[in-house]
Amino acid sequence: MLLTITYTGTDTANLGFLLYKNPYRPQKFELGFGDAYIFYPEISDNKTTAALLLDINPVDLARGKEGNSGGGRGLFDYVNDRPYVCSSFMSVAIANVFRTAMTGRCEEHQDLSDSLLNLEAVVSMLPCRSETEMLNKVFEPLGYEVKYENFQADENFPSWGESKYVNLSLKANIRLCDLLKHIYILIPVFDRQKHYWIGNDEVEKLLRNSGDWLSNHPQKGFITSRYLKRMNPLVSLAFSRLSYESLNSNETEEDSQAVFVGDTSLQSAEKKEKAEKKLNLNAQRIGSVIAALKNCGARSVIDIGCGEGNLLRMLLREKQFEKIAGTDVSSSALKRACEKIKYDYASDFIRNRIELFQSSLTYKDSRFKGFDVACVIEVIEHLDLSRLCAFEKVLFNFTKPRFIILTTPNREYNVKYENIGADKLRHSDHRFEWTREEFRNWAEKASSQYGYTVRFSEIGETDDIFGASTQMGVFSLCE
Ligand code: SAH
Repeated sequence: MLLTITYTGTDTANLGFLLYKNPYRPQKFELGFGDAYIFYPEISDNKTTAALLLDINPVDLARGKEGNSGGGRGLFDYVNDRPYVCSSFMSVAIANVFRTAMTGRCEEHQDLSDSLLNLEAVVSMLPCRSETEMLNKVFEPLGYEVKYENFQADENFPSWGESKYVNLSLKANIRLCDLLKHIYILIPVFDRQKHYWIGNDEVEKLLRNSGDWLSNHPQKGFITSRYLKRMNPLVSLAFSRLSYESLNSNETEEDSQAVFVGDTSLQSAEKKEKAEKKLNLNAQRIGSVIAALKNCGARSVIDIGCGEGNLLRMLLREKQFEKIAGTDVSSSALKRACEKIKYDYASDFIRNRIELFQSSLTYKDSRFKGFDVACVIEVIEHLDLSRLCAFEKVLFNFTKPRFIILTTPNREYNVKYENIGADKLRHSDHRFEWTREEFRNWAEKASSQYGYTVRFSEIGETDDIFGASTQMGVFSLCE
């Protein structure tokens, strides 16, 4: 596995300072799965190339694998392409070996680190089965001139067609730290056999290394989905956080539902794009709520009107939420919530973190108190208008959490649903649905009456005229 980075310009040996790797001293780094070597095949005033060679041993990998005591996947664990291709192992090596360079810090030459340099990265043997067009779609929006060399699978058997590997060249005037982050995130997007377990940490890594370039990338759906191995809840979480964070930094939220999954070919990717374009709104809503909760720094959360516990399930997966409660007026909804979070089989650790109880949010209940944030997700529209005043008093005046996150349908958007239209409500139990203006008026009035401020955002695909399907208000208690 080989990655080279070439800097063309003047005094190019300074590349060594930026990478924190002495050009005149080849180095070896022992990683858990093999060895990484750094050396410079070319050093001159006007052109310097650094190479990262990764030597991994599939036998060691197979032996080190949990539960692989001779059984497992047999020969495939020992005879595979891992030693030869640029895979997720290369990303891990980049993060280990170029950790400081990726931050953009350079004590000796900070100016150079902050400058756009004439750089070319060559990624040898990137697995990219029949997806070469995606290379252009993914790298060009980031400013790269993209070239790739492909090969016959076996020159003795032309009928076998092209191999699934390419040598990829990326050229741009770019900061070195950005180039490294792009490669770090995007190699695993093309490598389908990621070796690591995909968990919430990966969402954090993705957002940390892509915060400033992924939210407006036209292929952000493809990149997010593939990076997270198509684990839908995590994709929704990452996606919503990208949308939420870009909304809050006043960038435009583009194409926020276009999560699609490319699997075997571009053609099938496009088919799937259509099928999955209508990304489950519920999942997006949960993702946005979790993003907002994290933004509030919440450690304890009560979900009022928790229904079947969809949000609770996701909250339990995030360690930062140490104390969680769910409450609903409906005992059958609570029963389903219990089943969904597998409460009866849960460990003591989980049982100590979560509590479920029946109650109505129009009556004062001391169990609502003591949480950083109260979530009221798609509930308010189930209340009779005449009970709204009681609800406000219970929530804003009696419970009085530091933050309230409240979502409700945007009635204007109903025209976009074929089977609803402008005059109908979305659910037979909805007592009303608000336009954006009506929601804003209600929320601002309640905020000023009870000492809160409120910020609004939209969830789902946004229509220029009708807005998005769901509207969200995040209320903060004035100190
Ligand atoms: N928040 C959940 C469920 C939304 S459906 C989700 O987003 O998936 C609305 C829920 O509000 C239902 O479960 C209903 O039982 C609950 N609900 C309606 N009136 C309520 C009230 N007065 N007090 C508490 N829960 C109520």
